[in-house]
Amino acid sequence: MANEDQFKKVISHAKEYGYVFQSSEIYDGLSAVYDYAQNGAELKKNIRDYWWKAMVQMNENIVGIDAAIFMHPTTWKASGHVDAFSDPLIDNKDSKKRYRADVLVEDYCAKIEKKIEKEVKKAEKRFGDAFNKEEFVSTNGRVLGYQEKIDIILKRLGQSLEKEDLADVKALIEELEIADPLTGSRNWTDVKQFNLMFGTKLGASAETAMDLYLRPETAQGIFVNFLNVQKTGRMKIPFGIAQTGKAFRNEIVARQFIFRMREFEQMEMQFFIKPGTQKEWFEHWKAHRMKWHLSLGMGNDNYRFHDHEKLAHYADAATDIEFKFPFGFKELEGIHSRTDFDLKQHEEFSSKKLQYFDHEANASYTPYVLETSIGLDRMFLAVFSNALRDETLDDGSVRTVLKLPAVLAPTKAAVLPLVKKDGLPEIARQIIDDLKWDFNVIYDEKDAVGRRYRRQDAAGTPFCITVDHDTLKDNTVTIRHRDTMEQQRVKIEDLRDIIKKEVDVKHWLQKMK
Ligand code: ATP
Repeated sequence: MANEDQFKKVISHAKEYGYVFQSSEIYDGLSAVYDYAQNGAELKKNIRDYWWKAMVQMNENIVGIDAAIFMHPTTWKASGHVDAFSDPLIDNKDSKKRYRADVLVEDYCAKIEKKIEKEVKKAEKRFGDAFNKEEFVSTNGRVLGYQEKIDIILKRLGQSLEKEDLADVKALIEELEIADPLTGSRNWTDVKQFNLMFGTKLGASAETAMDLYLRPETAQGIFVNFLNVQKTGRMKIPFGIAQTGKAFRNEIVARQFIFRMREFEQMEMQFFIKPGTQKEWFEHWKAHRMKWHLSLGMGNDNYRFHDHEKLAHYADAATDIEFKFPFGFKELEGIHSRTDFDLKQHEEFSSKKLQYFDHEANASYTPYVLETSIGLDRMFLAVFSNALRDETLDDGSVRTVLKLPAVLAPTKAAVLPLVKKDGLPEIARQIIDDLKWDFNVIYDEKDAVGRRYRRQDAAGTPFCITVDHDTLKDNTVTIRHRDTMEQQRVKIEDLRDIIKKEVDVKHWLQKMK
């Protein structure tokens, strides 16, 4: 299936199976704002829990907080967001469409990358089993040429953005002859900076109301609470503070479903360390976060690191964990070495000391910070789009199946009475009453059992439990596994353990070791 078709399918499947709806759809929706439906809310919660358990519960030296969305407006002056949280925008004079200038250039590079992928596929076919991808991409002249071109372009883009040389960003767009993707026009305006923060007001009367921003990241709620948490939690460096919560950005271009939203959720962790140790902690968190992703079994080839050329004003090293979305490799998570920038800024703007007294060193210092920051909605899209497959079965029929990692699936099991009579529904209800203490389970009695299996496959339910006439005799049921479609006859009393084994967080997170 072409990537674009696959992405369209992801969006329509998310709607059809109660995962994601357009916000205020009856009023024709709101651009780049989405609602999570009955299954989506569960999947999102499970992803959040999986992150929280891995970061907070499993690490003695990391604690979680839940800071307010509204923050004192000086926070955003101190953090640099008022002055520097902007994206370079460019308008097309003919189509009147607005774009992010850096994204236009990056998309151009992604097209060259596609050419590399094509060369690799061709060579794979030609050489068969003897094909060595690594060797091929590091020696093939054409691939090297493409790669060099990408590197030169991205380097120049990074440097121009770093120097705020927006005229050069425009020059680059013109030199590469980049056209409006929708209309093909190359009639561009100059590149301008656009601040992404949403403003609002706090207070009842117009005269006394205070101008506020909706937070564009959750991180600052952690920085301003650094000392409170350190003291009340008696935390010793190195230690981390984690939080999940909503963030808001007035994105210039937001056309990729829940990949880029104007209201979204982040899962962030700030790890406070001794100055000078940032390199080793950067490597540590890079490796650790990648292990977390890989533990979900979504394909090792679907991830890669992308080290930043252009560093944000606060960082001395940064990398992205990129995931292969239906529209190509894109940032899923950022890992940043933020130095002591934020704490120092807050010290300066608040005139409060935000230092740590290190008993071992018998000295006070401003800690350095290592940050891991992942978008919950982006993670949702990664999980959901990777899980959705059309599988051709042995009999030639095609089944649509949502192979969500069982630990994340919204519903763990559907209980299906074979027929709606002979006492089978009552037994199914008893099974549900028993299992619902531990898992989300649902009852389904409509249609033939085969159709019910398909419905649950498409909804992502890992197990179906069928109650039939033999159940009346021997208290056994059939349990069917979504991914293999394998069916087993088991005792009702064993169901809990069978399901638990496959959906238990421990079983999954242990893969990080
Ligand atoms: P991008 O380059 O894609 O705009 P970013 O580098 O600005 O992202 P960060 O500020 O590092 O992103 O935010 C951390 C994480 O938050 C990102 O890796 C991403 O998963 C998520 N995120 C950022 N912006 C959005 C958005 N508009 N919608 C959904 N998720 C987002």
